[in-house]
Amino acid sequence: MFSCRIGAVLSLRGTTLALALASALGATPLLAREMPEAGTAAAVKKPNVVILATGGTIAGAGADAANSATYTAAKVPVDKLIAAVPQMSTIANVRGEQVFQIASESFTDAQLVQLAKRVSQLLKQDDVDGVVVTHGTDTLEETSFFLDLVVKSDKPIVVVGSMRPSTAISADGALNLLDAVTVAASKESVGKGVTVTMNDYIQSGRDVNKRTNVVPSAFYSQWGPLGMVVEGKTYFFRSLAKRHNMTSEFDIDQIDSLPLVGIVYGSGNMIPGVYDAEVQAGAKAIVNGGTGNGSVPGYLVEKLKDIRAKGTIVIRSSRVPDGFVLRNAEQPDDTYDWVVAHDLNPAKAKILAAVALTKTSDTKDLQRIFWEY
Ligand code: ASP
Repeated sequence: MFSCRIGAVLSLRGTTLALALASALGATPLLAREMPEAGTAAAVKKPNVVILATGGTIAGAGADAANSATYTAAKVPVDKLIAAVPQMSTIANVRGEQVFQIASESFTDAQLVQLAKRVSQLLKQDDVDGVVVTHGTDTLEETSFFLDLVVKSDKPIVVVGSMRPSTAISADGALNLLDAVTVAASKESVGKGVTVTMNDYIQSGRDVNKRTNVVPSAFYSQWGPLGMVVEGKTYFFRSLAKRHNMTSEFDIDQIDSLPLVGIVYGSGNMIPGVYDAEVQAGAKAIVNGGTGNGSVPGYLVEKLKDIRAKGTIVIRSSRVPDGFVLRNAEQPDDTYDWVVAHDLNPAKAKILAAVALTKTSDTKDLQRIFWEY
C-alpha cells in the first residue's frame, strides 16, 4: 500500500514543479505565500484526514485536454492527487494511501470488504478525524452505501469521484476532492453517515445515484442532497433518516466475505432461464429490478415462487429510478414470502441484501432491515 504525507508535498512549495503538477491535474494552485508552514501551531491543530485512493476517473488521464470522456481511468497515484490540490493543507493535515488503482466497475465484493476494514481501522485511531475515499463514479453509490452500513464510527467518511479526468479542461476532480476533505474535516459532519461530495453538493451515500454518464452534475438523490460545500465551508440542511454507522447492527469487523446476490433487470419478454443461472451460480438472493412498482410478469411468477421455495431470497426492486416499491402491491409478497427493496435501486438493494444475509436469512427480518436502512 502506497503512503504519502502532505508534508512532503509542502516541501515543494514555491517550486515550479508543484505549480506545474497542480496545473496539469486541473487544479488552480495557490500562490506560495498562501500556503501554511508545515509544523506550525496552526498546522498541529488541524484535523487529520486520510485519503484512501482506489482509482476511477478522478485519477484518470486523457491524451488531450479536450478529452473529457475518452481517457484511461485509474492512472494518477494518490501522492499526485494530493499535490494537485494544495488548498487541502489549509483545512486539514492530509495523508494518502493507495488502496487500489482500478476503475470502479471492476470492484469485487472482496475489495469492498478490504476497503471497509481499512476505513474502520483508521477511524479507530485517535490521530484520524476523518477519511476520504477517492473512487470511480460507476459504483460509487454501492461503496458509499456499503460503508454507511458496516463501518462503526461517527467520524466523517466521504466518498468522492469526478466525471472528468484530471487532464481535461474544467476537470471537476480537484474541487470535488477539496470539498471532500472539507466535509471530512468538519465537526458538522460527525454522525451524518457516509457522504458523497460531487458538484458542490453533499449527498448521502445511502441515497445518492449516478443519473447521467457524461456531465459533472451526474449525482442525484430523489430525497435531495444533505447540503453543500462552498469555499471551504460545509452547509448542512437535512439529515439521513435511516440507520447507519453507529446505529447499524452490522459491523465490518465481523464480516470477512459477502454472500452472492444477483440482479435481474425487468423488461418485456424476459428469459426465465436467467434466474436459474443465477441460482446455479450460487446466488443466495435475487434482486428483481422489475418494471414500475417492482412488477413481475405473469409468466415469471411461478418461476420466482419456485426459486423462493427452494431457498433463494426474492427481493422486488424497480428499474424506475424514483419512488419506492410497495409491499403487497402488484404482487402478494406476504403469500409468496418475497421481500421488497423499498426505495433502494437494484444495485443498492444488492448491497443491503448481501450485508443482511451475513446475519439472517429470515424473510421477516430481511424485510425489517429493508424498512430500516
Ligand atoms: N468507469 C469509471 C469508474 O467508475 C468512471 C468514473 O470514475 O467516472 O471508475
